[in-house]
Amino acid sequence: MNQEPKKTLNIESNLSRRDAIKLIGISPVAAMVIANGSMSSEAEAATDVKGKIVIIGAGAGGIMAMAHLKSKISNPDITIIAPNETHLYQPGQVFIATGVYQTEDIIMNNNDFIPSDVNWIKDEVKNIDADSNKITLRNGEDVSYDYLVIATGAACNYDWIEGLKKEDIGTNGLSSVYLSDFEKGTADGGSTSWTWLKDITKEIESGKKPRVIFTQPRTAIKCGGAPQKMLCLCADYLKQKKLHTEMIFTTAGGKLFSLKNIADELQKAQDSYEGMSTKFKHNLIKVDVKNKKATFHYIYEHKDEWGIESMEEEVVLDYDYLHIVPPMSPVEAVRESNLVWEEGPEKGWLEVDKFTLQHRRYKNIFGIGDVCGIPMGKTGGSARHHAPIVAKNIISVMGNKPLEEKFDGYTVCPLKPRYGEIIMAEFGYDGPMPSIPFWKDISVPRYSWWVFDVYMLKHMYKHLMMRGLM
Ligand SMILES: Cc1cc2nc3c(=O)[nH]c(=O)nc-3n(C[C@H](O)[C@H](O)[C@H](O)COP(=O)(O)OP(=O)(O)OC[C@H]3O[C@@H](n4cnc5c(N)ncnc54)[C@H](O)[C@@H]3O)c2cc1C
Repeated sequence: MNQEPKKTLNIESNLSRRDAIKLIGISPVAAMVIANGSMSSEAEAATDVKGKIVIIGAGAGGIMAMAHLKSKISNPDITIIAPNETHLYQPGQVFIATGVYQTEDIIMNNNDFIPSDVNWIKDEVKNIDADSNKITLRNGEDVSYDYLVIATGAACNYDWIEGLKKEDIGTNGLSSVYLSDFEKGTADGGSTSWTWLKDITKEIESGKKPRVIFTQPRTAIKCGGAPQKMLCLCADYLKQKKLHTEMIFTTAGGKLFSLKNIADELQKAQDSYEGMSTKFKHNLIKVDVKNKKATFHYIYEHKDEWGIESMEEEVVLDYDYLHIVPPMSPVEAVRESNLVWEEGPEKGWLEVDKFTLQHRRYKNIFGIGDVCGIPMGKTGGSARHHAPIVAKNIISVMGNKPLEEKFDGYTVCPLKPRYGEIIMAEFGYDGPMPSIPFWKDISVPRYSWWVFDVYMLKHMYKHLMMRGLM
């Protein structure tokens, strides 16, 4: 294992001279990441296929799909429907929550990404009628399409938890790094969680030992690693101040990560924090906001001389502070359409083929990003890999050609066991997919990845990914 030397990071400091040198040092690393099967700069002749393409959503996936389609079709007819001028760089929320970024570091502007020759309808889609190739907007108008790309992301459903409203987050010891509002351009999850962490710190400094619970729901979520990023960085923030308290990670899942070597590394990180424990198979179903009680649906196996029986019960835990990761689903317009899986592990998400990203029943519809009902993770990294595939496959459909591009399941989760270290978990349908060939073991925590994630990635996102250049 080529483990890097450990480095304690001064949380509130800016880029130090040493970091800057390191940053320059890892630039070739970044270049390799860029080159990892997704550079679209190879000179391809633009095709002259015809048809009206409508993209719903202007987050990571929608903008990247638009950029790739624009570069590959001569005189494309593209309409994008999205209410938000503000574009949030969502991965930065965790860094705001832990004092590394300020909120303004993640606020971008869709006017910088959507060119004037793309028809931008600043409204929300209310209904999709796939049988008539028609969309109805919130303002009541209809928009027709020949080809449709759905890029509406994942909705956070705080109110699916009994007793909880979105407005409760930020009150009574509650926080959630996921809190944001695209239309209003607010990303309160980061700043609310940073205030929350400082409140916990003050309480411990005053001699108390509050119980802090972190949750992870049963549904698929965007950035499946974010709940544990919050858990470990909050614990490390306290540890660096020589503080600790009781921290419980409650997850509806049965392990810390799907890949064993990464799960082991995360367990090692947890073991390094005094007072931390995990409760598996615990799904948050109810919050008594006033009395600070969280109720979990707990599924477990009971073994006796008669065999193994699956049992379930409700477990109530008192808390002082609760970090909630809400259950997620597609947004209402997609959820209520006939375009979602009706059964199976991806039930409720967009019914696309896991390789071509084409809708399985409506061949002129494609999905990109978090909305897709496919087995691999909901990450910006996946959306980056979806974009050229979706663009090329739509062009094939437009030209009556067979679909040739296939998604390999690539996803990436920069897990943060502590400040100054990242486990860059890159994997796909067939296992690990490290971007850096000589860093084969993706479970190794690296300082270089931390520097890359904190200082480089958002610039690459803004200047390369959003322009379809990687
Ligand atoms: C806290 C956090 C940490 C994360 N960390 C990472 C990370 O480290 N690495 C990583 O790769 N990914 C990370 N992600 C995930 C990443 O941000 C998402 O996977 C990515 O943004 C998905 O892009 P998307 O286009 O599918 O959805 P989004 O970027 O969420 O965009 C959805 C768009 O659809 C629009 N929309 C929604 N409903 C409608 C409607 N009815 N009509 C019209 N428009 C609509 C919205 O306004 C928005 O513009 C993180 C996410 C969070 C929240």
